[in-house]
Amino acid sequence: MAKSSRRSRVRKQYRLGIDLGGTNVMALVVNEKDEIIGEAKKKTKAELGPQGVVDRIVATAESALSAAEVDVKAVIAAGVGAPGPVNLDTGVVVEAPNLPGWQEIPLAAMLSDKLGMPVFADNDVNLGTLGVHQMGVGRGTQHMVGIFVGTGVGGGLIINGQLHRGSRYSAGEIGHTVIVPNGPICGCGKRGCLEAVASRTAIEREVSAALAAGHPSVLTELLGPEGKNRLTSGVIRSALEAGDALMTSVMSQVQYYLGLLTANLVNVLDPEMVVFGGGVVEALGDDFLEPVRTTARIYYLQQRDADRVQIVPAKLGDYAGGLGGAALARQMTSRRRR
Ligand SMILES: [Zn+2]
Repeated sequence: MAKSSRRSRVRKQYRLGIDLGGTNVMALVVNEKDEIIGEAKKKTKAELGPQGVVDRIVATAESALSAAEVDVKAVIAAGVGAPGPVNLDTGVVVEAPNLPGWQEIPLAAMLSDKLGMPVFADNDVNLGTLGVHQMGVGRGTQHMVGIFVGTGVGGGLIINGQLHRGSRYSAGEIGHTVIVPNGPICGCGKRGCLEAVASRTAIEREVSAALAAGHPSVLTELLGPEGKNRLTSGVIRSALEAGDALMTSVMSQVQYYLGLLTANLVNVLDPEMVVFGGGVVEALGDDFLEPVRTTARIYYLQQRDADRVQIVPAKLGDYAGGLGGAALARQMTSRRRR
């Protein structure tokens, strides 16, 4: 007893999960039971460039640790998600389109230097999916798909109980499956990607066009003069709750496309569960998914046992990515110990 307490005065028992986004950085401190015991959120300030953003991440992690009243020495490891392809083995962010200057940035090594602990990096949506799979509704599934609908549409795949990262760390980019050939232009420069027709950005574009064409809608009031307010997920919810015909019609188109995507993924992967997260789905909840289920089911090739494929909301709010980071930290350190 005396010997072990001398060897480690501070027992390492916590993990840090960090979610780096284009706008915000979030850090969570998680205990052995996977409970969040401290959190912090700061603006990313992407304009500061990679070194400046790394400093912001460190400051966010330190705030989360002090909120949790946890000494950095008691942290086993950290997992961090970045918005772009990441080489899990080297911890290098290959590129992050929303973060200026982020090409071949050794994020894990830079953070490990400053935090003084092992750090592992992965794609942010992969970690959101891992969070749902390890600490959310997906627990216990062998095959699961995560679809995150927000400013864009991201996805992650769990196959045989493990994240599927692909041969170039770029698997799961379901937001860029082409769903409307020659459709609206996408952020990636191509046309008709799912993200170009089913993200919040796409919803905003459709609503603006309809309002400009003079369609009557409560959105005219909700968005203020000259569309002063952003079409946030909360505004979408208010308009739907008011029974607004324009909002309902734009959303049913989005639900239709998400249903087609779900059917395509189910036909390819045959998962037990398809989990929807992200700002839009978190704000609208299970009601949003019912039309998605109806469309998906029509296009399943295998109609037998179709009910066994669950299509459910993630319900982890902003925490999916950070929890996934903490789960990655656990997976990578337990692998090392073995
Ligand atoms: Zn695209």
